[in-house]
Amino acid sequence: MGRTLGSGGRWMSLLRRQKAVDAEIVGVPAASPGHPSSRPCSEPGCQAPDRVSCDYRDRRGAPCPTAWCADHVMTVHSWHLCRRHARVVQALAPVEFRGELPPPDLNNRAPSLASYLAEALDSRMRAALGELGHPANGEHVSAEALTPLNTENRGRRWAQGWKLFDNTGPLLRIDVEVDEARDPECAIRLNSRVILRCVPPWIQDRKAAAPPMEGAEDEKRRQVFYDRLMEQHVRPALVAEEHWVRRWEHSPNSAV
Ligand SMILES: [Zn+2]
Ligand SMILES: [Zn+2]
Repeated sequence: MGRTLGSGGRWMSLLRRQKAVDAEIVGVPAASPGHPSSRPCSEPGCQAPDRVSCDYRDRRGAPCPTAWCADHVMTVHSWHLCRRHARVVQALAPVEFRGELPPPDLNNRAPSLASYLAEALDSRMRAALGELGHPANGEHVSAEALTPLNTENRGRRWAQGWKLFDNTGPLLRIDVEVDEARDPECAIRLNSRVILRCVPPWIQDRKAAAPPMEGAEDEKRRQVFYDRLMEQHVRPALVAEEHWVRRWEHSPNSAV
């Protein structure tokens, strides 16, 4: 009897887990073709004939308004998602499945914006940290997952970043952060200090209702923004911080 109850309990927790996910994602059977949509593909300029809607729902049940053709839809497990929500679902899935964290609202851009910027800056950040690392001393660069953190005023900020570490722990940790209360403002945090706050130029445009830039022009502007962010803010701060954390190594007494 005890064994039966025990396995019953396990089923219950599986079911409960499934339910927590269903609250966020409309249940789509495995290998489903998705929910057909009459809207055009949300990829600018795409005229493809068959579209499905993004399956993402926030915890109040509000649907994502985008639709995607087979070429532009993202699939995660059996879900059909836009890029933003694919990122959110992938970043949150391991935590969500344990039911420890309420899913972010559909209109909460903070997690996907932090994740988007981290992805865009990934190679630049790895290179910048790699240049300061001493692999011969066992120092490595790693990328960290998107993580929700509590803010001082009981809010939530989302951070995703990189670490230069050795076997004693991290020397440098740099994160891209978006605080839900300050969205769309983004922050770069180096170790425990915010070194920069900014609103990406394409988001400034949207807020000012400026006409959107076209594909190639928009992409070029984003790359210029990332390059400036790295050269004017991140690299100088990393170099200064590295000197500081290695100050004892640099002292004349420790010279070999
Ligand atoms: Zn398309
Ligand atoms: Zn979506």
